[in-house]
Amino acid sequence: MITAIRGFNDILPGDSEIWRHIEESAYRIFSTYGFSEIKLPIVEKTELFLRSIGETTDIVEKEMYTFPDRHGDLLTLRPEGTASAVRAYIEHKLYTAPVTKLYYTGPMFRYERPQKGRYRQFYQIGAEVLGDDSPRADAEALEMLMRLFGRINLKGVTLQINSLGCPDCRPVYKEKLLNFLKDKTGELCENCVRRIDTNPLRALDCKSPGCIEATKNAPSIIESLCENCKTHFEKVQYYLKLSGLTPALNPRMVRGLDYYTKTTFEITAEGLGSQNTVAAGGRYDGLVSELGGPKTPCFGFAIGIERVALILKEEGIESRPLSVFISLGTEAEAKGVELVSGWREKGIRVVEEFSEGPLKNRMKRADRLGARYVIILGENELNSGVVAIKDMVAATQETLPWDKIAQRISAQ
Ligand code: ATP
Ligand code: MG
Repeated sequence: MITAIRGFNDILPGDSEIWRHIEESAYRIFSTYGFSEIKLPIVEKTELFLRSIGETTDIVEKEMYTFPDRHGDLLTLRPEGTASAVRAYIEHKLYTAPVTKLYYTGPMFRYERPQKGRYRQFYQIGAEVLGDDSPRADAEALEMLMRLFGRINLKGVTLQINSLGCPDCRPVYKEKLLNFLKDKTGELCENCVRRIDTNPLRALDCKSPGCIEATKNAPSIIESLCENCKTHFEKVQYYLKLSGLTPALNPRMVRGLDYYTKTTFEITAEGLGSQNTVAAGGRYDGLVSELGGPKTPCFGFAIGIERVALILKEEGIESRPLSVFISLGTEAEAKGVELVSGWREKGIRVVEEFSEGPLKNRMKRADRLGARYVIILGENELNSGVVAIKDMVAATQETLPWDKIAQRISAQ
């Protein structure tokens, strides 16, 4: 038997309905905020990620799937979507519009240790607002995300925010942190010691127990912000409050990508154990120009679909109900073709059970197919213009006229 590669999952029927529910809810809500979909390639030139994500990040140092193609060009399976979105934004000169709001979905690839909620191929729904420097843009994107999580009923959702400053104030903080860490190199992991001079902020994001302990009393970045970054951060909080959101401040949150400036955030939810971050992102005002475009302030985020789907599944949300139709006898079968077609036309999800055994066996098959409703048309029902409809969850049965079935099922 050939099996899938570890960390690369099949999403099976039953789960795929939950995924679709998440994705469709996101598309619907994002479009009410003026976002349009962009479809991006899964493979990019490696250089794109080296220049955007940062050479001393975990992603670039040890998580990328990079390979030469048949011509020797170095390619990478995308580890995230922002770099591609920005590349496309520049390449197609989307910056001629005053503001561009994009969303995308699809698989991302990172060579990580597979475990619950962490895979090597995983899916994100991402969104980017390009060309807006207003703190209102940060707050609005966060509001949109929280609205989505509310709509799909995710429990225990919390929002943490931080500001990482800008090229004016971050170097000052970097220096402060470096001085603080210099005395603690004995406690830091090998990785963090190696990059302490180039990227000391990484130590704040490191998951190794030594680094967590060593950085416990590290100076707070929020206290080092310049006037401009400080005002921006305060305004983001003001607008979040207007939307009824109360974020927790987390000055240790530096995120795993180097391109962030000013606001960064993470959203966690209950029910996942340690991999409980379901969405994350922030502002990246320098990336577009870094990649060769005009100076463009941006804000973006990505949602991890697997993690959201795992939670919804554990909460037991029901995927869309399936109806199974059983006809008894040649005449009922003929009428059934017409009825089933009419229900599908109305958007009811219905399959026919065609086997010819006794009704008892056919009911069992319908149950094994996952039927919420079994609709039966026998000779008596045919003559009276009705069907028998059995609710397999409530274990009740009723008789309904043909034209009332669609309404009855879609009301669930
Ligand atoms: P983490 O700290 O959990 O590794 P991250 O900071 O690497 O997350 P981002 O790059 O910000 O994550 O990606 C945004 C979201 O994508 C995460 O919050 C998470 O929900 C999801 N995600 C990231 N990596 C994985 C993975 N390997 N498997 C499943 N989901 C992931
Ligand atoms: Mg990670």
